[in-house]
Amino acid sequence: MEKGEKKVIAVTGTPGTGKTTFSKVFSDGLDYRLIDLNELIERDGIYELDSDGTKVVNSQDLQNSFKKHMSGKSGNFVVDGLLSHLLLPAQLEKLVVLRTKPSVLKKRLESRNYHEEKIRENMEAEALGVILQEAVANHGTENVYEIDTTQNSPSETVNLFKKALAGGRSLKPGSIDWLEEFYFGSG
Ligand code: ADP
Repeated sequence: MEKGEKKVIAVTGTPGTGKTTFSKVFSDGLDYRLIDLNELIERDGIYELDSDGTKVVNSQDLQNSFKKHMSGKSGNFVVDGLLSHLLLPAQLEKLVVLRTKPSVLKKRLESRNYHEEKIRENMEAEALGVILQEAVANHGTENVYEIDTTQNSPSETVNLFKKALAGGRSLKPGSIDWLEEFYFGSG
């Protein structure tokens, strides 16, 4: 690898879809270093709090902060972060969007003691595929990988991604749809 050359895989998804778990399992044993995007946002203070305490980050501030952080670094990186799809296409090679059936997401967020309203908000965002839409709008479909973590274990999910990386294109975005289950209670 040339000096200053880097490869960045970003992992995004609604809270509870498994970003942190996926990033750790993926980088474990591979030559990838982990970057916690939330930590970077905290450290650089590039957020404001909205009325319910959610951090709001301007995408340009995020891109600048990431650029500064990566300057002079080389190697392979996995970026764990709910806002990682707001990075510029030139700042990453691959973008993984994790998805989880809203009813299962609910259980994961309940076990983290999220407030009822926050759980509902995240279930709705996941049902509508908000992050996937933003990811594809910003990065196109070519480098975006959509992976369902509802039933697969973390290592199975990571293996699916590794296979997709190694052997042509699979996990194309657009195959997951929770609307039926979420709004009509079936599917
Ligand atoms: P996030 O970073 O998206 O908020 P976490 O990784 O912190 O999510 O938590 C996700 C939870 O879901 C963990 O308890 C993890 O064990 C569980 N989980 C179940 N299946 C998977 C999977 N296939 N991939 C990642 N996490 C999973």
